[in-house]
Amino acid sequence: MSETPDFQLETLAVRAGQERSQFGEHSEALYLTSSFVFKSAAQAAARFSGEEEGNVYARFSNPTVTMFEERLAALEGAEDCVATASGMAAIMAVCLAHLKNGDHIVASGSLFGATVQLFSNILSRTGISTTFVSQSDPATWQAAIRPETKLFFLETPSNPLTEIADIRAISAIAHAHGILVAVDNCFCTPILQRPLELGADLVVHSATKYLDGQGRVLGGAVCGAKKLTEEVFKYLRTAGPTLSAFNAWVLLKGLETLKIRVEAQAANALQLATWLQAHPAVERVYYPGLPSHPQHELAKTQQKSGGAIVSFVVKGGREAAWRVVDNCRLLSITANLGDTKTTITHPASTTHGRVSPEVRAAAGIGEGLLRVAVGLEAVADLQCDLESGLSR
Ligand SMILES: *Cc1c(COP(=O)(O)O)cnc(C)c1O
Repeated sequence: MSETPDFQLETLAVRAGQERSQFGEHSEALYLTSSFVFKSAAQAAARFSGEEEGNVYARFSNPTVTMFEERLAALEGAEDCVATASGMAAIMAVCLAHLKNGDHIVASGSLFGATVQLFSNILSRTGISTTFVSQSDPATWQAAIRPETKLFFLETPSNPLTEIADIRAISAIAHAHGILVAVDNCFCTPILQRPLELGADLVVHSATKYLDGQGRVLGGAVCGAKKLTEEVFKYLRTAGPTLSAFNAWVLLKGLETLKIRVEAQAANALQLATWLQAHPAVERVYYPGLPSHPQHELAKTQQKSGGAIVSFVVKGGREAAWRVVDNCRLLSITANLGDTKTTITHPASTTHGRVSPEVRAAAGIGEGLLRVAVGLEAVADLQCDLESGLSR
């Protein structure tokens, strides 16, 4: 498969990376083994020294994990991919593989909450500092550069307000200063957006979300040029947050339906966003696929559709927003996203609950805001569920 990179995404999602064993199994095999056996002392030595390619120990590699890595690399158009135990492990691995004491990160101020915590509270203890800048204004990235800046980190669209970061413009600024660009592509997946083609150096994923797509396992990945992922691999094989074979197997099955799921969920989201925008109880809708989104034109230049996350402000603040949540019989009240089951979240009291009300207000996360991660149910049923709280 790796010699035939011209296949289209649909084909790659189903076929890329599969290595059949001597038994000729049709579906990918799950190799639940922590170590591998050698034919001789000499072969063991050659494997350990790296003279001979092959598996040694599952912290380094496992054939099921390798199949997942090759399939995702093919989808992202990346030379290489390294799988990790979770999305956060992928982000940590990128930072600890490529940064050292004294280095500086410029990051979007609209990142996933745990990523902000990792940069501000954990990496800061190792002497790696971070400046947070505007998601939507590349000039603020330029202005934050210092001689010790080594990494730009962004995620687009942002959660929950779906602000778009201009991957091309931000990458061009970074590369003029020899700075690496990593993009968390969790929300779009390679089906809607391929950051490496837009100029990014590394793509990180929380495979827990759309790549699995059915809320079953945790996983993550880092994709990019081999010379960059190799450093990530060296960090992982020593530090340990590698992907389990079982989770890799579940994720391989998830990737097979990624394209049809993401496209169908995004089509449902556009329909739901259009309906919400016209609803008298709704003050505002945030969805990059709507022409009313302030960055709709930019979004169209880098992502194939608006994706499946829709946020909206209900008139009447927290009370009204909670009423919508509490009247849901179908939508799941949970902070997870990327599932075939639609989920609903009130960010101000959950994912952003620890942020002070002032900071929250400045970030635009008000008390009336709700985020819906649209799944595969019939849109009419989703509307009916939301309507019961909206019309009360
Ligand atoms: C969930 C998420 C992560 C973290 O992934 P885990 O698999 O939960 O560790 C990182 N980035 C984004 C955008 C996410 O939604």
